[in-house]
Amino acid sequence: MQIIKYPARADWEPLTRRALAEQSATVAEAVSAIINNVRSRGDRALREYEQKFTGAMLESLLVTDEEIEKAESTTATGLKQAIDAAAANIELFHAAQKPRQELVVETAPGVICRQKAVPVQRAGLYVPGGNSPLFSTVLMLAIPARIAGCRHVELCTPPAADGSVHPAILYAAKRAGVHAVYRTGGAQAIAAMAFGTETVGRADKIFGPGNRFVTEAKQQVSLLGTAIDMPAGPSEVMVIADGTANAQFVAADFLSQAEHGPDSQSILLTADEGFAESLPEVISSLLAQMPRREMMEKSLSHSRIILLHNDNEIMEFSNLYAPEHLIINHSRAAELAAEVTNAGSVFIGPWSPESAGDYASGTNHTLPTSGHARAYSGVNIDAFMKKITFQQLSPLGIRSIGRTVEVMAENEDLAAHKLAMTLRIEAVNNQTK
Ligand code: NAD
Repeated sequence: MQIIKYPARADWEPLTRRALAEQSATVAEAVSAIINNVRSRGDRALREYEQKFTGAMLESLLVTDEEIEKAESTTATGLKQAIDAAAANIELFHAAQKPRQELVVETAPGVICRQKAVPVQRAGLYVPGGNSPLFSTVLMLAIPARIAGCRHVELCTPPAADGSVHPAILYAAKRAGVHAVYRTGGAQAIAAMAFGTETVGRADKIFGPGNRFVTEAKQQVSLLGTAIDMPAGPSEVMVIADGTANAQFVAADFLSQAEHGPDSQSILLTADEGFAESLPEVISSLLAQMPRREMMEKSLSHSRIILLHNDNEIMEFSNLYAPEHLIINHSRAAELAAEVTNAGSVFIGPWSPESAGDYASGTNHTLPTSGHARAYSGVNIDAFMKKITFQQLSPLGIRSIGRTVEVMAENEDLAAHKLAMTLRIEAVNNQTK
């Protein structure tokens, strides 16, 4: 594990770069070919890609009701209870985010403006399945979609080699109110939801995390006209710790990120040199007990410990990096948390591991990665809603703003815009004569 001691300011920016950015051109090319193929060949292309990437020889892409019923009976009771308990907290936190009432403002006499939140009608959810069956992601996407009031919620996830979808994914999908589950993943699933195929319905907006192929596909389809939630790619955590932090806690938080995939990144920021130097050994001893050791070692190879001079520098660096997850395990955790300007989700104090938010605290775990937290929020109710504005003018309203509109239209050289108002001003004047 690399320890970088007191880097010069000029070196900060390169240190915030994510692991695989340099390979993005190859990924973009592969993804573009997949999208074109799915657009032109629909289900046939989906089947071929699933055979290639997962080994599954699929007859039906749609998961049947019987499979969903069976999944419910084969999922262990303890797991169903855990899914239900997590779902209840996610429901509580997300229901509280729903806009309560329509906004109505009379901006000028006779000019009424309203803003109404309306759900995205057809939501397409992506649930990763390459390295782990992320049934928790089903809850994180489908529960807000249901609370927002989306009319149709469909979900794509990669199948296992035998063509099945993990029972816990199906149980969570049923629990959260998903209408259709399709066994397809990767860039091909994103293309299917963006353009529709014979089986998969076209979505108005696509949500959910995934590996770099999925993330790249979301970005490409967004340029072709389908909305996406945000770029949520390979996971990352930044941990801020001081000498009071429990090194085992910090090491476990580091490793929990590393096990998401070889692209994941963990970074520790500290101003305590002794703590920085002691951590690699603690990480190694925990790593030795981990079943996914090999993959985690890859991810740890681009993880780092960065030693900075003080808490001010630490917060400045953290906001520059804009981490997806930020754990503040520090004696001044609450004060430092107040200085966060760029992060997906923040975990405050020693008792708030990222795993809590990944599963069950109630916050969403679909979060912006690769520095996108500078401008994007994680998934929340707003992501599933559009705000439609309405305005209604009365004759009094025409009197209030008519002349303003005419002057502005005239000065933008838009004669028809001006005419649309002038005719009404004349009609109002004639009425009152
Ligand atoms: P995935 O479902 O995202 O991707 C698996 C699919 O990728 C495969 O089934 C295949 O279709 C496609 N694929 C694999 N190799 C390919 C290749 N060479 N060319 C074209 N397509 C290929 O599952 P995963 O791989 O396990 O990745 C899940 C990712 O999601 C991880 O990186 C994890 O960190 C991330 N994640 C992010 C968040 C977040 O909120 N940002 C949350 C959970 C998970």
